[in-house]
Amino acid sequence: MAIDLAARLAPGLAERRQRHLYRSRRVIDGAQDVELQCDGKPLLSFCSNDYLGLANHPALIQAMQQGAQRYGVGSGSSHLISGHSQPHHALEEALAEFTQRPRALLFSSGYMANLGVISALAAKQDTVHEDRINHASLIDAARLSESTLRRYPHNDVDVLAKRLNKQDDGHPFIVTDGVFSMDGDIAPLQQIATVATQHAATLMVDDAHGIGVIGKNGRGSVEQCQLSLHDVPILVGTLGKAFGTFGAFVTGSDELIETLIQHARSYIYTTALPPAVAHATLTSLKLIETEHWRREQLQTLVKRFRKGAEQLGLNIMPSTTPIQPLLVGSSDEALRISEQLQQRGILISAIRPPTIPAGTARLRITFSANHSEQHIDRLLAALESVIKHDAA
Ligand SMILES: *Cc1c(COP(=O)(O)O)cnc(C)c1O
Repeated sequence: MAIDLAARLAPGLAERRQRHLYRSRRVIDGAQDVELQCDGKPLLSFCSNDYLGLANHPALIQAMQQGAQRYGVGSGSSHLISGHSQPHHALEEALAEFTQRPRALLFSSGYMANLGVISALAAKQDTVHEDRINHASLIDAARLSESTLRRYPHNDVDVLAKRLNKQDDGHPFIVTDGVFSMDGDIAPLQQIATVATQHAATLMVDDAHGIGVIGKNGRGSVEQCQLSLHDVPILVGTLGKAFGTFGAFVTGSDELIETLIQHARSYIYTTALPPAVAHATLTSLKLIETEHWRREQLQTLVKRFRKGAEQLGLNIMPSTTPIQPLLVGSSDEALRISEQLQQRGILISAIRPPTIPAGTARLRITFSANHSEQHIDRLLAALESVIKHDAA
């Protein structure tokens, strides 16, 4: 007799809970911002990806309302049928100009952009070389394509070069996060680009956490590392992080974009994002381009935090970006610290395997331009009390 589904699933859930790996969600009451309401209690949040503090910006809210008035709510269909509307098109043109590249193509999320790009471009005989700690969507994308996935040790350009030396028939791709989502460090893109050129490999950079945040003009890790379209022919950015809205884009040559329109299945077979979201994103792009103070504020916060954390002897990871992980080690310890911080009114989630390698559970602390220096001091004081309490 067939056992029912719930009975089959229960032991796996129990085991996950027992290993302190169980995930559960918090319900946030109001708007996304650094000061949140959760279960009726105020929390100071250090875990969103709303780096520039735009998710709840009045100008974006207004643009979203105006977009809904003009274009309605749903896009009605995929881009290739009747869902590609004027604000989508205008946003693609604006994103191409912003990134100083010929074309841009909107996707409904970053996850889907990565799936679409890699599965459309990498053929069966090809090899996709990925950094070991690349975002899950990049790993999944290579698995979805029929190509061979090879993961090189984190940022290890020498190993990457050696593997490329042994290339066989297919075309080699190199795929890396620009800013690593769980570590906050920046890939050595200049060296990787050099290796890519030497081996005629195609470099793809997923700059979900860099675009809008780093580089003098917010053009991301590619700007920071002074790389051209020739060096990085495929650049992916997301709109749900620094842009404060939703969706993602790929930028590159006209030929790249046209190929994706023809072949990227996660582009073709899905509903276009709501046009009002594209309309609102045009406003966030303007703020990203004009309000340099947001990036400067982030740098101020990072410096203040790192100085304070070093004085407290906290085990922070080497990062210059607004992702400042505090390495803890065990999952139960990370959970306990996260819970104690929450009791003190501070929200930071514990990041545990399999999101990150076993034994490297951490608190992923992130900053927003809406944080003040006083917020950082509150965070440091809370960390001090929780970690001291620990040692006692
Ligand atoms: C968040 C993230 C994605 C996924 O983007 P979504 O728009 O949230 O689907 C892809 N790559 C990286 C590196 C990310 O951090």
